[in-house]
Amino acid sequence: MTNEIKSPRVFCIANQKGGVGKTTTAINLAASLALQKKRVLLVDLDPQGNATMGSGIDKNSLSLNIYQVLIGEASIADVRVRSETGGYDVLPGNRELSGADFDLYELEEREHQLKNAIAQVAGDYDFVLIDCPPTLSLLTLNGLTCSNGVIIPMQCEYFALEGLSDLVNTIKRVHKNINPDLKMIWLLRVMYDSRVTLQQQVSEQLLEHFGDNVFKSVVPRNVRLAEAPSHGIPGVLYDKSSRGAKAYREFGAEVIKRVKAMDKEK
Ligand code: ATP
Ligand code: MG
Repeated sequence: MTNEIKSPRVFCIANQKGGVGKTTTAINLAASLALQKKRVLLVDLDPQGNATMGSGIDKNSLSLNIYQVLIGEASIADVRVRSETGGYDVLPGNRELSGADFDLYELEEREHQLKNAIAQVAGDYDFVLIDCPPTLSLLTLNGLTCSNGVIIPMQCEYFALEGLSDLVNTIKRVHKNINPDLKMIWLLRVMYDSRVTLQQQVSEQLLEHFGDNVFKSVVPRNVRLAEAPSHGIPGVLYDKSSRGAKAYREFGAEVIKRVKAMDKEK
């Protein structure tokens, strides 16, 4: 095997704002990494189950889902499903997850449930990507507790910056109190339209504040990316020649490059 990456690298795709492109980023990063021969597990931590459906897996016909893993009734090995369209594994989720916050609260190791479960399959993957719900809930906390980094998809709009400091502060608190391995906060500009002056301005602000922590790859607004989920196929594979597919492939390559650079620094 030619896997130079020390496995697995765990990333949350998070932003407590709804509809900013988390799931689209999670699915397409998973597929891009799989195209580069990386072994990927995509974790659907959102009761909406969009990452599951967008990977071609019917969220309503699952006998087990991530909920049973979180409450300790099943292991990831029992629950994971192969995305045949994407070339990666999925830990699927559905609306059963909406009760998880309450049930998790009862458990002593409440924020470590996902981390403990991933540890059991660590050898199977190069990357674990976690699609978070649009909340800073116990579910998201479980994601942050097992991650090395957070990828924050951002639309370059005026209000985009507003919630960012809350999220960054939460990540820093988790780093300090629960998970010292949570070290990277990386921002990805998505649904970008360079013709809009405001978007250019917000993009510049992001670069000013976050410097190298902003990915060089930029994902444009592209209708093919929005169409892909209804076919259960990741955008990078649904229309390979689309601008959106090209951008997410570049983004996948940039993630691999960054992770390798970090390994060298150690
Ligand atoms: P939620 O907070 O509800 O989980 P989300 O942050 O996961 O949402 P997505 O579901 O990925 O966001 O995207 C929201 C909508 O925008 C979807 O309809 C998706 O298809 C569309 N979308 C995402 N990225 C793009 C893009 N680059 N170009 C065009 N449409 C996009
Ligand atoms: Mg989503």
